[in-house]
Amino acid sequence: MRHRRANFALALAGALFFALCASLPGALQAQEWVFRGSTSGPTVGAYLDEVGPDASLVEHGALMIDGKRVNCGKRPTVLNPNFDSWGGAFPGFLILNTKKISGLSTQVKLYIYSHECGHQFEGADEIKADLFAIRRGVKWDWLDAQGMEDICAFISQLKGDSVHPPGPKRCDIMRKHYQALIEKESRPATARSSTTTRAQTLGPAR
Ligand SMILES: [Zn+2]
Repeated sequence: MRHRRANFALALAGALFFALCASLPGALQAQEWVFRGSTSGPTVGAYLDEVGPDASLVEHGALMIDGKRVNCGKRPTVLNPNFDSWGGAFPGFLILNTKKISGLSTQVKLYIYSHECGHQFEGADEIKADLFAIRRGVKWDWLDAQGMEDICAFISQLKGDSVHPPGPKRCDIMRKHYQALIEKESRPATARSSTTTRAQTLGPAR
């Protein structure tokens, strides 16, 4: 047991610690754990052993957020009401703090889950994980303009740290990405209507 714990501590030390929020002075800094490289971080079993009986495992395909089924490929999620942040990620699994996210709007919850999922595909980069979440929201049709505002209101309270840009900046980057995606989606329709306009203008020359 002691050996296993030592391994876990080593894995933790090897993992990069990322905070979705800037913590209060004196509070535990580590809030969102993300891997560097492909092997650091505990297995989901070791993590469950470490965090104790309050946490529970949800197998991939079984997680619902406010009635919406979500997935991150085949990765399971650990629901941990004692986790220091809203969500986190280790290679191969995600962590959600069900207690901490409970007061948030559905779209903000989906953003948090998708941000952590983004780390699985995009690595440690916080902005890339943010943009992954926004892309998913547009593609899977759970993100609208109101949701984007909710995400901004949520993230803008966060100060940032060595790895997380300040919340207002993250909001700005995500909002621009959202706008670009929405414009891209509506462009074919715009192009069609401008072609129609041109055809009408050219009509008399026939
Ligand atoms: Zn992150």
